[in-house]
Amino acid sequence: MALLCAGVLLTGCASAREIPAQPAASPTAAAAAQGTETPRRVSGFGLYFDTAVTVTLYEPEDGLLDDIWAACARYEQLLSKTVAGSDVDRINRAGGERVQVDPETWDILQRAGEISRVSGGAFSVSIAPLTALWDFTGGTERVPTEEERLEALPLVNDAAIVLGEDGTVTLPAGMSIDLGGIAKGYIADRIAAMCRTRCQGAVISLGGNTYVTGEKPDGSAYRVGVQDPQDSRGAAVAVLSLRDGSVVTSGIYERCFEKDGVWYHHILDPETGSSAMTDLASATVVTESSMTADAVATACIVLGSEGALRLLGELGLDGLLIGRDGTLWQTEGFGDKYGMVLTR
Ligand code: ADP
Ligand code: MG
Repeated sequence: MALLCAGVLLTGCASAREIPAQPAASPTAAAAAQGTETPRRVSGFGLYFDTAVTVTLYEPEDGLLDDIWAACARYEQLLSKTVAGSDVDRINRAGGERVQVDPETWDILQRAGEISRVSGGAFSVSIAPLTALWDFTGGTERVPTEEERLEALPLVNDAAIVLGEDGTVTLPAGMSIDLGGIAKGYIADRIAAMCRTRCQGAVISLGGNTYVTGEKPDGSAYRVGVQDPQDSRGAAVAVLSLRDGSVVTSGIYERCFEKDGVWYHHILDPETGSSAMTDLASATVVTESSMTADAVATACIVLGSEGALRLLGELGLDGLLIGRDGTLWQTEGFGDKYGMVLTR
């Protein structure tokens, strides 16, 4: 089985999201393609939420791959802040009014709220007024002025998001939310749940989120690579072996650019409104909930190594942190538990 590099499709800071083969019909829409490699193994890729999604299924039931793409399309329509009429869009445009949302959106917001609280606000879905000021798109990069940042900062406050028991969400007027730091984890969990009952084994990859589940035909564990933040070709710095679970990496090398000698990246510090400038280059979290791992990995980057290790300890999560200077930190027992092999 080839090495699966978490985030392997993302070539360093080039911010290009490469699709390995068979370009999807439309580069932006929920397009998907599929190809059968052997009768027992089916692979496919799609482009959703501005992210390359790849899936490998062992002994899948008929129609599973199509159902996975349909789920991705549905989640994009529900959770993307740029899709008009999505739950997130309706929440953001409600001007302080209560909005009835899909139970799944509500569940994600509830978990996001818990992680926001435990991380002291390092993870904040109400980051959207700040993310709106930045542009990490190749060629049109933009650093907001200090005045713009200072004006947006008071709007970032997850504690002000009210989740009603009746399945509603109320956001104070002026605030807005962005689920970019957690939604892919949730979707990976949902796809993994579909795969558990409908195929023998599966490898699911959505950007920095990898989920492996079930059995490989030869019975061996899956091997998942953790991208080396310093290697623009996406080589692995460590290889983990696991049978079931999610490996999620957040890194400062994704969606980033240099301006006037400063490197900016897409994980923002809710206290400064600028890219998190901590000692960490990447944070990898391994657990069965890709949603939790996604949000916590993002929070780790904002907190820096000391705070990240404290947060991982408090939540009882396994993590591997890589410093900007190449230092590696791991939670207790991590290397043994995942048979970690360092490649440098
Ligand atoms: P990726 O989307 O590349 O997998 P992350 O999971 O770390 O990376 O999420 C980064 C995205 O989350 C950003 O693009 C933005 O939409 C959002 N975001 C940025 N900073 C924060 C933050 N401090 N808390 C929550 N979400 C954030
Ligand atoms: Mg995340």
